[in-house]
Amino acid sequence: MSNTDGVRDGPMFSYRPNWEASFHDARLWQRLENDAVQCGLSPRHCKMRPGQAGFCGVRQNVNGRLVSLNYGQATHISQESVETEAVFHFAPGAPILSLGNVGCMLNCDYCQNWRTSQARYVSSADVHRYTPERVVEIAVERGIPIISWTYNDPVVWHEFVLDTSRIARARGIRALFKSAFFISLEAAAELCEVVDVFSISIKSLDEDFYRKITKGWLPPVLRATRLVFEQGKHVEISNLMVTDANDTTDDARRLAEWVLANLSASTPLHFARFHPDYKYTHVNRTPIERLEEARRAALEEGLLFAYLGNARDTESLNTQCPGCGHTLIVRTGTHAREVGLDALGRCANCQRKLEYVRLESAARPPAKKVGELRPAAPSRRLQRREFLWHGEINALHVEAHNLGLQRGHVSCRRLIDGNGAESGQSVEIGGQDSFRFMVSKFRPDENGVEIMAPEDFKLRIFEVYDRAHYPTVDLDTAQADQDQTPLPYYTRGGRGGLRR
Ligand code: SF4
Repeated sequence: MSNTDGVRDGPMFSYRPNWEASFHDARLWQRLENDAVQCGLSPRHCKMRPGQAGFCGVRQNVNGRLVSLNYGQATHISQESVETEAVFHFAPGAPILSLGNVGCMLNCDYCQNWRTSQARYVSSADVHRYTPERVVEIAVERGIPIISWTYNDPVVWHEFVLDTSRIARARGIRALFKSAFFISLEAAAELCEVVDVFSISIKSLDEDFYRKITKGWLPPVLRATRLVFEQGKHVEISNLMVTDANDTTDDARRLAEWVLANLSASTPLHFARFHPDYKYTHVNRTPIERLEEARRAALEEGLLFAYLGNARDTESLNTQCPGCGHTLIVRTGTHAREVGLDALGRCANCQRKLEYVRLESAARPPAKKVGELRPAAPSRRLQRREFLWHGEINALHVEAHNLGLQRGHVSCRRLIDGNGAESGQSVEIGGQDSFRFMVSKFRPDENGVEIMAPEDFKLRIFEVYDRAHYPTVDLDTAQADQDQTPLPYYTRGGRGGLRR
């Protein structure tokens, strides 16, 4: 229920999540009469009586104080690349450590991470516990220069994001915040103290679309985006073009005009392809031609950098010099290579400076050995898994649990059409530890990937449908009957099923 000033009451029941929640003092709230509280983290400003939770399901009134239920409660920590987050002009090709959490201040009909964003559907099996110190330690151990707050939406993880990013910053690690940014100005200002990069998803410039499809409203998103840009933060904007909903060229022009008027001509704008998910499965994936038209329209409006997202095999993923058209950065899926830049980050052809941030190798934390040092086993039997790319599936998450005491490696080799295999990633995992990482298609003639690990590793393999998609159902549990909508399928009123 919304009252007239846009303030939304919390659910009218005592709230008990399905996962093991913790109580951590929340920031940004005020006390009301009769032990009620009002949250100031997102523009909903939920009012809650004792026992009630807010719209997001992860902030609750406990005996007259507001607590965060999801502090340190996360999806499995994962290694991806910065391109996964619709960030093309900050440290191209850099690895990131991605963390999602539970809950969201929106409820988009097409959410691709609904199984973690909608607190009532979250399963304990998908929730892991981390401390801020442990997250930073993992980044340091693995030499990962950026922590990315992503997936469901990090706005509702405010306290954990602030605490962790502060420690990370002191260790020379950057923070990236990927969000729909339906956030109060006060909270956005706090983030500016610790976050370096904002990748903001503006769903549409149509207020009706926001209200009907996302259950939020537009002006706070635009205000907060302007605020972080004015604070000098690196900002990139993305727009998920949902088939037949917000995917016209006019939609793209309006968004490009807004970026030009409120941010800058050199702010990258990404048009991302949608896959049917959650309650929005009655249409197909967005046709690529519509994304290409949107990109052309944004460039015609005067933006210098417009890209496609969730697409492959198109030049529209590459960065061209706005001065002479020379190709500067080439991207294949979520991989990036600088090809036309000199040592100073200028176009090698016309010497125009590219508006982007290059992380100097000196700024990257050195990788430490992962796990406790123990003598290696003389010979360890290996298990082998093979996965073939198919249809729209060009990326995997590999989650490896080392059940033994000795550290070991998960090695991935690319299977090349008619030419055997070529080496790819090798990820070290300490005894009794686990790690998750993305493997994605790189070469056009690549058929799939071979994964090798010691026999005492438990391997879970997940199909990744699009970037910033956190899959929760692994291939050993079930496989979808098509490659448009991942499992679990949403079932009305239920927790999601594996079969239609
Ligand atoms: S963060 Fe959650 S509790 Fe706070 S105002 Fe937003 S939806 Fe309501």
